[in-house]
Amino acid sequence: MLRLLIYKTAAEMDSMTKPEVAVRLSDKVSMCNYKANRLVCNAADFAMQVHGGIGYSRHKPFEHIYRHHRRYRITEGAEEIQMRKVAGHLFGFMG
Ligand SMILES: Cc1cc2nc3c(=O)[nH]c(=O)nc-3n(C[C@H](O)[C@H](O)[C@H](O)COP(=O)(O)OP(=O)(O)OC[C@H]3O[C@@H](n4cnc5c(N)ncnc54)[C@H](O)[C@@H]3O)c2cc1C
Repeated sequence: MLRLLIYKTAAEMDSMTKPEVAVRLSDKVSMCNYKANRLVCNAADFAMQVHGGIGYSRHKPFEHIYRHHRRYRITEGAEEIQMRKVAGHLFGFMG
Protein backbone atom coordinates (compact mmCIF):
# COMPACT_ATOMS: atom_id res chain seq x y z
CA MET A 1 0.00 0.00 0.00
CA LEU A 2 2.82 2.39 0.92
CA ARG A 3 4.82 1.54 -2.20
CA LEU A 4 1.79 2.35 -4.36
CA LEU A 5 1.25 5.65 -2.54
CA ILE A 6 4.90 6.56 -3.18
CA TYR A 7 4.75 5.58 -6.88
CA LYS A 8 1.46 7.43 -7.37
CA THR A 9 2.76 10.55 -5.62
CA ALA A 10 6.01 10.45 -7.60
CA ALA A 11 4.10 10.06 -10.88
CA GLU A 12 1.86 13.02 -9.99
CA MET A 13 4.91 15.10 -9.04
CA ASP A 14 6.37 14.42 -12.49
CA SER A 15 3.28 15.96 -14.09
CA MET A 16 3.34 19.23 -12.08
CA THR A 17 5.49 22.30 -11.62
CA LYS A 18 7.29 22.73 -8.29
CA PRO A 19 4.88 25.39 -6.99
CA GLU A 20 1.93 23.16 -7.90
CA VAL A 21 3.52 20.25 -6.06
CA ALA A 22 3.88 22.41 -2.95
CA VAL A 23 0.19 23.33 -3.00
CA ARG A 24 -1.39 20.11 -4.20
CA LEU A 25 0.86 17.28 -3.10
CA SER A 26 2.76 18.24 0.04
CA ASP A 27 0.29 16.29 2.21
CA LYS A 28 0.89 13.13 0.14
CA VAL A 29 4.67 13.65 0.29
CA SER A 30 4.36 13.98 4.08
CA MET A 31 2.33 10.76 4.25
CA CYS A 32 5.00 8.91 2.24
CA ASN A 33 7.79 10.37 4.38
CA TYR A 34 6.11 9.57 7.69
CA LYS A 35 4.94 6.06 6.88
CA ALA A 36 8.06 4.90 4.98
CA ASN A 37 10.46 6.05 7.68
CA ARG A 38 8.30 4.44 10.37
CA LEU A 39 8.06 1.22 8.39
CA VAL A 40 11.81 0.83 7.88
CA CYS A 41 12.58 1.65 11.54
CA ASN A 42 9.97 -0.83 12.76
CA ALA A 43 11.25 -3.51 10.39
CA ALA A 44 14.86 -3.01 11.54
CA ASP A 45 13.77 -3.00 15.18
CA PHE A 46 11.81 -6.21 14.70
CA ALA A 47 14.73 -7.85 12.87
CA MET A 48 17.05 -6.97 15.78
CA GLN A 49 14.60 -8.51 18.22
CA VAL A 50 14.26 -11.71 16.21
CA HIS A 51 18.05 -12.10 16.01
CA GLY A 52 18.57 -11.36 19.70
CA GLY A 53 21.96 -10.05 20.87
CA ILE A 54 23.67 -10.66 17.56
CA GLY A 55 20.94 -8.60 15.87
CA TYR A 56 21.92 -5.59 17.97
CA SER A 57 25.63 -6.01 17.17
CA ARG A 58 27.36 -4.84 14.01
CA HIS A 59 27.67 -8.43 12.80
CA LYS A 60 24.20 -7.95 11.34
CA PRO A 61 23.09 -4.95 9.22
CA PHE A 62 20.03 -4.05 11.29
CA GLU A 63 21.54 -1.57 13.72
CA HIS A 64 23.02 0.32 10.79
CA ILE A 65 19.69 0.27 8.94
CA TYR A 66 17.87 1.42 12.08
CA ARG A 67 20.35 4.21 12.89
CA HIS A 68 20.62 5.39 9.29
CA HIS A 69 16.87 5.61 8.75
CA ARG A 70 16.08 6.88 12.24
CA ARG A 71 17.52 10.26 11.23
CA TYR A 72 14.86 10.71 8.55
CA ARG A 73 12.22 10.80 11.27
CA ILE A 74 13.95 14.01 12.42
CA THR A 75 15.67 15.64 9.43
CA GLU A 76 14.03 17.07 6.30
CA GLY A 77 10.91 17.77 8.38
CA ALA A 78 10.48 15.86 11.66
CA GLU A 79 7.55 13.48 12.01
CA GLU A 80 5.54 16.01 13.98
CA ILE A 81 5.93 18.50 11.15
CA GLN A 82 4.82 15.91 8.58
CA MET A 83 1.73 15.19 10.68
CA ARG A 84 0.98 18.90 10.96
CA LYS A 85 1.13 19.19 7.16
CA VAL A 86 -1.29 16.31 6.66
CA ALA A 87 -3.66 17.63 9.33
CA GLY A 88 -3.37 21.17 7.94
CA HIS A 89 -4.31 19.93 4.49
CA LEU A 90 -7.21 17.82 5.77
CA PHE A 91 -8.64 20.53 8.00
CA GLY A 92 -7.64 23.52 5.88
CA PHE A 93 -5.49 25.46 8.36
CA MET A 94 -2.25 25.53 6.33
CA GLY A 95 -3.27 28.48 4.17
C1 LIG B 1 22.28 13.09 10.81
C2 LIG B 1 21.79 14.51 10.62
C3 LIG B 1 22.15 15.20 9.48
C4 LIG B 1 21.71 16.51 9.29
N1 LIG B 1 22.08 17.15 8.15
C5 LIG B 1 21.69 18.42 7.94
C6 LIG B 1 22.09 19.14 6.74
O1 LIG B 1 22.79 18.59 5.88
N2 LIG B 1 21.67 20.40 6.58
C7 LIG B 1 20.89 21.03 7.49
O2 LIG B 1 20.53 22.19 7.28
N3 LIG B 1 20.51 20.38 8.63
C8 LIG B 1 20.88 19.11 8.87
N4 LIG B 1 20.49 18.47 10.03
C9 LIG B 1 19.68 19.19 10.99
C10 LIG B 1 18.22 18.82 10.83
O3 LIG B 1 17.65 19.45 9.71
C11 LIG B 1 17.49 19.20 12.13
O4 LIG B 1 17.96 18.32 13.15
C12 LIG B 1 15.98 19.06 11.94
O5 LIG B 1 15.47 20.09 11.11
C13 LIG B 1 15.25 19.14 13.29
O6 LIG B 1 15.58 20.33 13.92
P1 LIG B 1 16.13 20.32 15.42
O7 LIG B 1 17.19 19.28 15.55
O8 LIG B 1 16.43 21.73 15.77
O9 LIG B 1 14.92 19.79 16.26
P2 LIG B 1 13.64 20.67 16.77
O10 LIG B 1 13.14 21.47 15.62
O11 LIG B 1 14.10 21.35 18.02
O12 LIG B 1 12.67 19.51 17.08
C14 LIG B 1 12.68 18.81 18.31
C15 LIG B 1 11.33 18.14 18.46
O13 LIG B 1 10.31 19.13 18.49
C16 LIG B 1 9.36 18.89 17.48
N5 LIG B 1 8.84 20.13 16.92
C17 LIG B 1 9.55 21.19 16.48
N6 LIG B 1 8.75 22.15 16.00
C18 LIG B 1 7.48 21.69 16.16
C19 LIG B 1 6.20 22.21 15.84
N7 LIG B 1 6.05 23.42 15.28
N8 LIG B 1 5.14 21.45 16.13
C20 LIG B 1 5.26 20.24 16.69
N9 LIG B 1 6.45 19.67 17.02
C21 LIG B 1 7.53 20.39 16.74
C22 LIG B 1 10.10 18.10 16.42
O14 LIG B 1 9.22 17.36 15.62
C23 LIG B 1 10.98 17.21 17.27
O15 LIG B 1 10.27 16.10 17.75
C24 LIG B 1 20.90 17.16 10.26
C25 LIG B 1 20.52 16.44 11.40
C26 LIG B 1 20.95 15.13 11.59
C27 LIG B 1 20.51 14.37 12.84
